[in-house]
Amino acid sequence: MKKHNCIICNRPLENGIIVNGKGICNNCESRLVNLQVGNDFYEYYKHCIKKKFIHFKVVPDNCQDYQL
Ligand SMILES: [Zn+2]
Repeated sequence: MKKHNCIICNRPLENGIIVNGKGICNNCESRLVNLQVGNDFYEYYKHCIKKKFIHFKVVPDNCQDYQL
């Protein structure tokens, strides 16, 4: 059984959404919904997503905080 972690806060995903196999917890999702473009969290989120996606595709075993 696969266990997803939130790709933003890295907590185990119990409630939330999964997009392309990447989990986002309710907390982070609601922050995303409410955030405004250009604020710190948005920048962090973009950076985080980009990094995680790249790691996931290229060197999944190297991304220790994302467990499959
Ligand atoms: Zn989260």
